[in-house]
Amino acid sequence: MPEFYRGSGEQGEAANLRIGGFEPISFCDWPGEIVATIFCQGCPWRCPYCHNPALIPSNVRGKHNWEEVVTFLENRRGLIDGVVFSGGEPTLQAGLATAIKCVRGMGFRIGLHTGGPYPKRFAKILPFLDWVGFDIKASQCDYEKITCAKGSGPKAFESLALLQDSGVDFELRTTVHQDLLTDSMLEKLERELHALGYSNLKLQKFRPDGVDQERLNKAINQTA
Ligand code: SF4
Repeated sequence: MPEFYRGSGEQGEAANLRIGGFEPISFCDWPGEIVATIFCQGCPWRCPYCHNPALIPSNVRGKHNWEEVVTFLENRRGLIDGVVFSGGEPTLQAGLATAIKCVRGMGFRIGLHTGGPYPKRFAKILPFLDWVGFDIKASQCDYEKITCAKGSGPKAFESLALLQDSGVDFELRTTVHQDLLTDSMLEKLERELHALGYSNLKLQKFRPDGVDQERLNKAINQTA
């Protein structure tokens, strides 16, 4: 383990990254790239259709430590194209920027999955990213119906604008659960995105695996 990755001060922040899961090889987390995926623990939002609710709590310890992941990546140089930081919501953690710089310094391209809840932090890491998978949940006025988090819409749209301005390659995608994001809500989102100049929204079908079914049913009953 090179001392650089253990580090202290700023470098030590990467070692504090709480990692809730690690996928050594993935063909689907970054279209066209073979990557390893780091699933960061914690998310400030509470989408009822979340298929990885175990990653939502931010106050639990990670399952993998940073040194273990870095050691693995050291042995994958030249064998994978890049590393994706996913979640949960990776930008929730202050150590993300340092972790990204470390992995980039090892020669890997960097992808990020985010919903954009922290525009300021997102702006700081954008220069170190090669690709972003940006989850847009709904039109601004419907945001809280999906995230169950106050003020989430303006933050997400602010992050999206930053992403657009940065020139970083990205994919814009929305999860469609017909009972939570109705046809009229989806149309509203598409109109809003179109007005902002976005045309390539990828629709992802809701996947039931891993979902907290009780919570999902409760949310559906509340919106019915
Ligand atoms: S933003 Fe993603 S990780 Fe967070 S609750 Fe929603 S679906 Fe789950």
